Amino acid sequence: MPRVPALRNRLKDTPVTGTKRVLLAAPRGYCAGVDRAVIAVEKALERFGAPVYVRKQIVHNIHVVSTLEKKGAIFVDDVDEVPEGSHIVFSAHGVSPAVVQGAADRQLDAIDATCPLVTKVHREAVRFAKQDFEILLIGHHGHEEVEGTMGHAPERTTLVNSPADVPNIVVKNPDHVVWLSQTTLSVDETMETVRLLRDRFPNLQDPPSDDICYATTNRQVAIKKVAAEAELVIVVGSANSSNTVRLVDVALEYGAKAAYRVDYASEIQQEWLDGVATVGVTSGASVPEVLVQEVLDDLADAGYGDVSQVVTAEEDLMFSLPKELRKDADGNADERGLGGRVRQLDWQRNR
Ligand code: SF4
Repeated sequence: MPRVPALRNRLKDTPVTGTKRVLLAAPRGYCAGVDRAVIAVEKALERFGAPVYVRKQIVHNIHVVSTLEKKGAIFVDDVDEVPEGSHIVFSAHGVSPAVVQGAADRQLDAIDATCPLVTKVHREAVRFAKQDFEILLIGHHGHEEVEGTMGHAPERTTLVNSPADVPNIVVKNPDHVVWLSQTTLSVDETMETVRLLRDRFPNLQDPPSDDICYATTNRQVAIKKVAAEAELVIVVGSANSSNTVRLVDVALEYGAKAAYRVDYASEIQQEWLDGVATVGVTSGASVPEVLVQEVLDDLADAGYGDVSQVVTAEEDLMFSLPKELRKDADGNADERGLGGRVRQLDWQRNR
């Protein structure tokens, strides 16, 4: 695994035409759902002691996962790997009712860190299934969130993995279909898929509100503005993070000549900077700010010390912690029960 903090002074300050600068997208990094999920694991470790088991990666970021592993979290693929009677945290991406039942069958103490915005999609799926709708779920095959959502209405849901799937979809009643989506998709591509679906099913019903979440949308809006002025965009985040990978796609679509994803600053290649005056930087919703700061430090070594933020939205959303963690062992309300933004700043300060 690459070192953190990143190796410094690897990048050379080579001459370019124009003034070297960085455009730093805002919002970027941690969303409220990720913040809450990470704190849930930390608090579970404090409250119950190690080990605490976590089903799947709590959030899709290898630095966050390895940091929690060092504190005593054990990540498993499914509940049947967890010793009976243990504590288990369900990840921010959510789980199907079958997983909840599997944990109960093993007498596991479950802490549900599913992002409330994913839970909202689960509730929509259940409600539309009860109303006999067929659900067309736009999302990526194999993604944990998609598996969790489909598990809430398995008989009634068809996955739409890409626009190319649309011509082959088979439904029983074309006049009683609704679309839902994964929370972390490309807004533009999803709207294109919906357009194609509506061409096939003119009475297609929309979800009551957008399923693509505020954090995904805001980060895409910010990188669109940055990409229009940047020759190179660097997106910090992990390969299995859907919203991170979408940021690379969106940057390329909106004007960046090149865009790369890195987990760590040490992955930046000198040749990416050849002839580049303006570098755009952003990060996915599961990325702690410390990793972005390392990228900025390395870019400063290469002459890109002039950093301007491009702010397209302010975010102040916070979610309360999972109910199992809102009180301490003595039954007193926990001061972090209302959310984690303060804690996130602690994390940054401590490094
Ligand atoms: S990206 Fe959106 S849906 Fe996913 S955890 Fe963050 S806020 Fe929740």
